[in-house]
Amino acid sequence: MCRHLAHLGPTPVTLASLLTEPPHSLLVQSYAPADMRGGGTVNADGFGAGWLGREGLHLYRRDDPMWTDASFLDLARAVETTALVAAVRSATVGMPVSTAACAPFRGEAGGRTWLFSHNGVVRGWPHSMADLAATLPPLDLLTLEAATDSALLWALVRARIDAGKDPADAVAGVVSDALAAAPGSRLNLLLSDGAHVVATAVDHALSYRTHADGAVTVASEPLDEDPAWEPVTDGSLLVAHPGDGHDPPTVTVTAL
Ligand code: GLN
Repeated sequence: MCRHLAHLGPTPVTLASLLTEPPHSLLVQSYAPADMRGGGTVNADGFGAGWLGREGLHLYRRDDPMWTDASFLDLARAVETTALVAAVRSATVGMPVSTAACAPFRGEAGGRTWLFSHNGVVRGWPHSMADLAATLPPLDLLTLEAATDSALLWALVRARIDAGKDPADAVAGVVSDALAAAPGSRLNLLLSDGAHVVATAVDHALSYRTHADGAVTVASEPLDEDPAWEPVTDGSLLVAHPGDGHDPPTVTVTAL
């Protein structure tokens, strides 16, 4: 079941410092994840990385395992950023394996650009989501990036931010509506505009840590053995803002 991470901080870091260099990097989590609840053994159905760069949020996605993309692994050593969202995918049975189905998804909502990832599964897909899908404008459904649960959850979150909802409320609302429509779903969502991150832990692993410079990392699995990693209680909503060198980072974890 996919793994994802977000990192925001005041100091530029290479993509590799999060994705490939740590002992339990996202690359390692793609072939040897430690805490895959509810099925799946490897995350080999593609990957994606979205980062803040010169032109806003850039996006690189592939429908191959991360470890096969030598060019990406090289690029990751060269690209520096202060905001990164990345994911490795284990496609849910019956869902397409394609680049467009790989998180993070990137899109506009509420006048800002966002990166979104979902780690988990919507039970009873697609029938269970018919009523929720019907709340979307037809054009949102016609332009859904992929025929997957994750792409629909992303469209729902976007629509609610567009309707003026606070991003954390939009994410929490979609999780609670999806759980009501499809009980037993696993719904670890991750959303960032490069300035803050919103994440949920619903039946999947999630941890976070802060760093001395004010950076914050949120990840399905800790990237190393550092005791600074805190597990996020299941059934929680996390909102994190990085520090700026003067003000410390803020991380709030509340029950959904
Ligand atoms: N269900 C989603 C997909 O197929 C997410 C998969 C996962 O978390 N393993 O893309």
